[in-house]
Amino acid sequence: MKKIIVVGGGASGLVAAIIAKRHGADVTIIERNARLGKKILATGNGRCNFTNVDALPIHYNNPAFVKSVFDSFSPSETLLFFKSLGITPKIEDLGKTYPLSEQASSITDVLIYEIKRLGIEVIYEKVILSAHKETQGFVLYDQQGETYHCDRLIVATGGLALPQSGSDGTGYQIAKDLGHEITPLFPALVKLKLDSPYLKVLDGVKFPGFVSLIHQNQIIQTEFGDILFTKYGISGPTILQLSRKANALLQDHQTIYVDVKLVSELNPTDIEERLMDLKNLPVELALLGLINRKLVSVVLKEARLMADVTIEQLNPMQIKRLAQLLTSMKFKVTGSKGYEEAQVTAGGVNVNDIQPKTLESKKSKGLYFAGEIIDIDGLCGGYNLQWAWSSGYVAGLHATQ
Ligand SMILES: Cc1cc2nc3c(=O)[nH]c(=O)nc-3n(C[C@H](O)[C@H](O)[C@H](O)COP(=O)(O)OP(=O)(O)OC[C@H]3O[C@@H](n4cnc5c(N)ncnc54)[C@H](O)[C@@H]3O)c2cc1C
Repeated sequence: MKKIIVVGGGASGLVAAIIAKRHGADVTIIERNARLGKKILATGNGRCNFTNVDALPIHYNNPAFVKSVFDSFSPSETLLFFKSLGITPKIEDLGKTYPLSEQASSITDVLIYEIKRLGIEVIYEKVILSAHKETQGFVLYDQQGETYHCDRLIVATGGLALPQSGSDGTGYQIAKDLGHEITPLFPALVKLKLDSPYLKVLDGVKFPGFVSLIHQNQIIQTEFGDILFTKYGISGPTILQLSRKANALLQDHQTIYVDVKLVSELNPTDIEERLMDLKNLPVELALLGLINRKLVSVVLKEARLMADVTIEQLNPMQIKRLAQLLTSMKFKVTGSKGYEEAQVTAGGVNVNDIQPKTLESKKSKGLYFAGEIIDIDGLCGGYNLQWAWSSGYVAGLHATQ
């Protein structure tokens, strides 16, 4: 019987352990926390958006690698896996899938129940700091210098996002010890910081609209959905989706902007016509029917207009400028809220050094990786947990063979 150690009892590690045990291995999970699956509880605002039924490899940064893993364990197989454990899924807009209970704890509860039912050993409150290959298998060292031996090793320690959940990046050292290169790391699915004198006024303004990421006057990515201004910058699902590309460019010391459509339903010509219809009204009042009150003062400042001037007192250039601002207001992006608030880590163990069909290391036989520690990240909306389950399944299965 193969002795397998799974380092990390998070999403990917739990599935890897379950699958390995079901296939006859002697499995031990080593988890630094006093409990399993801590981060899962924080997912989906406590509801756990545990998969996305529309998730495809193209929704991830390394699609060919993801495809190979999804060929073994796809979102539909994930649904069956969780259904068999007792979870009834609830599919919402854009394929986002939650447990019907709307409680993330349902997901951890059923996984932990299965871990116990299978008799998987769990060692809590031990941080593995390094690993070495032995003639037969591996030896791991924890923070107290204690050692652990195994035939096969699955590293499922997560990335750097939400470090208080336990994923503080120590796993990268284990990967390096065993000969792996770590690609540049940066936070993704994270709120962005802006440089703007208007943030204090705009704090709390939320509306649905289009927002684009701009680099060298080119649109890099556009998203539609809720946009939320905050005292440090900008947030909302749209921004999380843009944040990966934004942070990649910032890492490269590039200057970038977000271009926000304050009015997404009308084009500039429509807006000009609408304003002309209201020519007797003060400009402030005409704008109040189009955008949030707090945005009105910002637009007037940017357009250098007094609030009480009537539309008919404006010249055509001023009207054009107003229409332009309402459909395109640019803000310079200066950074992000970092790993503390990021949902995922971009970068990780280089996929070129991992077998895509088995998730076994090409550098160290018997070593497997699962989850966010690998250089894979996906969109916001159930894609990253899906990667964790799929990669956990593949690593767990092949580690037994
Ligand atoms: C706030 C938030 C909300 C999110 N919401 C969603 C969502 O709704 N849908 C979605 O798809 N994704 C979501 N994600 C992303 C998702 O949670 C992660 O992609 C996923 O949990 C990664 O799984 P993992 O197993 O790789 O790592 P983790 O879940 O981070 O687990 C790693 C485990 O390893 C342990 N560990 C780390 N280092 C060591 C060590 N050296 N020794 C021993 N143990 C160690 C940690 O304590 C942890 O338990 C969210 C993330 C955050 C932060």
